[in-house]
Amino acid sequence: MPDLPAIRLTQLTKLFGSVSAVDHLDLEIAAGEFFSMLGPSGSGKTTVLRCIAGFEQPTSGRIELFGQDVTSKPAALRPVNTVFQDYALFPHMSVIDNVAYGLRVRGVGRAERRRRALDALASVRLEGFADRRPNQLSGGQRQRVALARATVVKPKALLLDEPLGALDLKLRQQMQVELKQLQHELGIAFVFVTHDQDEALTLSDRIAVFNNGRIEQLGTPRELYENPVSRFVADFVGTSNLFGREHARSVLGREGEYSIRPEKLTLTAEADASGSPSASGTLVESVYAGSSIRRVVDLDAGPRISVLEHNDRTHRVELERGTRVRISWNDDDLRPLAGTAPAWTDDDAAESLDADVPRTRGEKERQES
Ligand code: ADP
Ligand code: MG
Repeated sequence: MPDLPAIRLTQLTKLFGSVSAVDHLDLEIAAGEFFSMLGPSGSGKTTVLRCIAGFEQPTSGRIELFGQDVTSKPAALRPVNTVFQDYALFPHMSVIDNVAYGLRVRGVGRAERRRRALDALASVRLEGFADRRPNQLSGGQRQRVALARATVVKPKALLLDEPLGALDLKLRQQMQVELKQLQHELGIAFVFVTHDQDEALTLSDRIAVFNNGRIEQLGTPRELYENPVSRFVADFVGTSNLFGREHARSVLGREGEYSIRPEKLTLTAEADASGSPSASGTLVESVYAGSSIRRVVDLDAGPRISVLEHNDRTHRVELERGTRVRISWNDDDLRPLAGTAPAWTDDDAAESLDADVPRTRGEKERQES
């Protein structure tokens, strides 16, 4: 018998009044998989998670956990547990009592409670903190207590709703590594909600990109990044240069809409340009970011684009703003987009890049003339 999926959603729909938060969603998550739901705020990720946990009753559709229909089962009877962004620890209880809480509710005896809670604390490297109160811990430590509390009852899947959202960047990156290790040790499915594309790319076996209560694309991090199927995904997962129909024709010489990643483009001073395909333009800005340099270029026959250069040459020639440059690419790196997004125009694409680097009046006039 093939392994049953940990979670199977069939035509899951949730309406809040006239808002359709989740719209006829079909999804299977394998046991042992690190699965992320990635999308902008309001795209329905939390609602899906709450439906799986049993905190929210779907308007229609079915939820199965390990082959069992749990659609109308109360949360307490579902073999999953949830970790929230705000930790939701009991402030008046010690760390160990917080962790042991779920065991107490389930009637587990005192000695076994203590043993299992200490084990769970060890799994998140907090052995020495059993007797502290939550307010005597840092944010990262509190989140680890929340993880220990959720895993101590041995759920068959763990649901995590933006659990690292409140932490600063360094701590978040450290917790990402620990989360991945914990998932590996426990061997259970983690369903991880985030609006942070870096986090989703780093952690996940597979990612579902959410937009308006539906999945816009589902795949491995590599598939999503290398082959985004729509403008929405190309733009939301990583940074993309988008070419609408008109600019695809004028710059790329192709019909349809295309995207290309900034790191797939090569920038040279116009004079020493060789090879094709390529397009010329003017350097608008160089953004120095240590390990990389981002170049912003206004193409003569197209939109403002972004080129990412690896800072690997110590004696790289610095380019002045206004330098005439040539951009070249490999046609294999162009990605055709099936426009599921509403009819955007080339102007929209140019504007979305404008948001990063303000265009000066002179430059704008030059390009329009
Ligand atoms: P996300 O987690 O992706 O930010 P949510 O699932 O929280 O998105 O929300 C999806 C949509 O459903 C949003 O439009 C949100 O305003 C709406 N929504 C969520 N929860 C409720 C609720 N309890 N009552 C009314 N509308 C809600
Ligand atoms: Mg949410």
